[in-house]
Amino acid sequence: MNDFAHQLNWMSAVFDNAPTAIVAVDPNGIVMLVNSAAEKLTGFAKADLVGGSLAKVLPPEYGHRLAALHEHFEAAAPDAPSGLDGVLLLRRPDGSDVPVDVSVATAADEPSTYIVSMRDVTERRPFDDALRFSSSQVRQERQATDDLATYQRVLDRIARGAARDQTLVELCRDVEERYPGTICTVMVPDENSQVLYVAAAPSMPSEVSAALSGLAIADGVGACGTAAATGELTIIDDALTDPRTAGFLDIVKSHDLRAVWSSPLYDSDNRLLGTFALYRRVPHTPDDAELKTISAAAGLASLTIQRAESDRLLRTAAERDALTGLPTRAVFLNRLNTMLGESPKSVAVMFLDLDRFKWINDSIGHPSGDEVLAAVAERLADVVGDEALLARFGGDEFTVAQTDSDRDGAAKLAQRLASAFAKPLLVNGREHFLTASIGIAFSEEQADASGLIRDADAAMYAAKERGGSRWEFFDKKLRDRIVRRVTRENELRRAIDRGELMMEYQQVERLGNGALAGFEALVRWNHPKLGRLGPAEFIPLAEETGLIVPLGVTVLDLAIRDAVRLCTISDEVRLSINVSAIQLGDPNTAAHVDAALERHGVDPSRIIIEVTESGFMEQFDHALATLQRLAARGVSIVIDDFGTGYSSIARLAEMPINGVKIDRSFTQGIENDVRAELVLASITRLAHAFGLAVIAEGIESEQAYAITRKLGCDFGQGFHISRPMPLESIVS
Ligand code: C2E
Ligand code: MG
Ligand code: MG
Repeated sequence: MNDFAHQLNWMSAVFDNAPTAIVAVDPNGIVMLVNSAAEKLTGFAKADLVGGSLAKVLPPEYGHRLAALHEHFEAAAPDAPSGLDGVLLLRRPDGSDVPVDVSVATAADEPSTYIVSMRDVTERRPFDDALRFSSSQVRQERQATDDLATYQRVLDRIARGAARDQTLVELCRDVEERYPGTICTVMVPDENSQVLYVAAAPSMPSEVSAALSGLAIADGVGACGTAAATGELTIIDDALTDPRTAGFLDIVKSHDLRAVWSSPLYDSDNRLLGTFALYRRVPHTPDDAELKTISAAAGLASLTIQRAESDRLLRTAAERDALTGLPTRAVFLNRLNTMLGESPKSVAVMFLDLDRFKWINDSIGHPSGDEVLAAVAERLADVVGDEALLARFGGDEFTVAQTDSDRDGAAKLAQRLASAFAKPLLVNGREHFLTASIGIAFSEEQADASGLIRDADAAMYAAKERGGSRWEFFDKKLRDRIVRRVTRENELRRAIDRGELMMEYQQVERLGNGALAGFEALVRWNHPKLGRLGPAEFIPLAEETGLIVPLGVTVLDLAIRDAVRLCTISDEVRLSINVSAIQLGDPNTAAHVDAALERHGVDPSRIIIEVTESGFMEQFDHALATLQRLAARGVSIVIDDFGTGYSSIARLAEMPINGVKIDRSFTQGIENDVRAELVLASITRLAHAFGLAVIAEGIESEQAYAITRKLGCDFGQGFHISRPMPLESIVS
């Protein structure tokens, strides 16, 4: 809903109560909003009017004049066009005509909307008859006009979202002006609806206001306390004698507040919003007109309070994170900016990220994950207290801003934040052991809010790289590293386009008979300045920056192209290609493989895709979909670096997976380590039991080669057998 529609919504409630027929039209004379009085007057239902032309009920020539409003609007004239006010005949659907007094006004804040007010003037006689009007009729006529003026003024303020109490003051003044000698008040309840507080009482002596504040909401306690408690209009004609004002005789006497009428204010859910009261200095019983005014003013007061409340709710909803109740990222940025404005040189920003939270979240389910986050937030809030600003930055990230901070102060707070995790969190009867990595940056070096957060974030990453569960300061070394990283990232982006990536191939042997089983494709980067870089120096960066996707497409194309030549060596030869888990999560990857196979005319059964174990589990759902598509095409799949993660062989066997490549760490040093040999033996047996092939990599020595063979590993790979080599050295 746009802003204006929202405001119209508010206004429509008051429109509906207004005794005057009111229709809001756009500059083309199209009806946007109709109140009940207008329904009654025109004889048309709202639904028949809204969206149609007002010319439907008004005479055609008037309709044309209304349509001319458009030009008026185009000319950006702020006030209502003249020539539209006057008496004319309105045609009802039953064929009867009603004389109406029409006046057109612009909505102050919305010049593209016109408010057409219409009053039935059937009763009004020609000029000479008017003399016979009773004075009360004249007063009623005038009152209706005055009412409308008040409505429009107050509605305007409500629509604009003006300050609540200021609008209420204005409303009180309007009514007081209408009834000279009266004093109006608006009171609002406390949170538990026990007592009332004065929200507006512009003409009430301040000592009376003070005495009234805190008035108990109870039947028999003054006019307002009674009205609020009973929910009924409470009329005290003479406060000197009425038992309900007996407790206020001092005030009644000293300030001559003899009559008081109070109307309770409610919202549509029947929730008490407050009271609107009118005091007089003489005993008085309200007449119809006065009662109407009170009810209209009460309606406006309710709207004003409701609007302010919903604004406040909207604001807090936007400012508070729904899960943790902490301030949101936007609020944090905002307040950090203020802090920096006040003490630009001594603000510390901390970026806290839970270690392995994603893993926990995936394993216990997201609803429990949410509860863990809420529990973490609570602990952090306890630690931070009023000392600093704590916010939920997003996901499992929290930020803290501390003013008047120095290295020592920040380190102490970081230490306390870190130790908030010392005890396990109990969620749903389960204990969770969490740790966090914290990065700290200071405004001395970086005085811009988003820069500070970025630096703290970078320091947090450094803390993670050092194993997590610790905190790190951002410093110059880190900045240099980041600059290097950004440079490297740009270089890598160009490298993919410029063809600086090249492949090497490492032999895979069938351990049983020593025959060539195939090759593993390993990417290298011929860096123009740094020379040849191994994948360890750029694959992690590519994965973090998303460059792994285009890089992977290039690798697939180069490797599958080379597969054509490699496969000519023997019918046995198959080519293993490493695919990052992030790539597997990309829904286009299976199609890229297909396209490359087709482009180079390679049989899918010649290709093996290697996925690292840890990455696969992280991307499980998407990765599985890709693997299934690849498997359906006849491509084999092997889990790489097996043993470094936590996956069970039984579970893997249920997936379209053909084999496991046992991580190098299991084969290295196996010569002198009986336990390592036992582990390798049992993994091999288990994998075989589930029908998975076993590949041993990192075979560096004769002994390792012999042991892997003896244990029954199907395939072997390692420097002892062959180093990775460029294609030209393998096939000529
Ligand atoms: P990986 O898939 O486990 O590849 C085997 C790595 O072990 C290769 O390192 C290889 O050179 C090395 N290696 C082979 N035999 C031995 C040995 O006997 N002893 C030792 N110490 N190492 C040996 P490289 O080429 O540096 O690759 C490292 C990792 O980078 C690979 O591990 C793989 O995860 C990743 N990678 C390589 N190429 C690609 C690629 O094209 N795409 C993706 N996504 N990742 C790749
Ligand atoms: Mg591999
Ligand atoms: Mg490996």
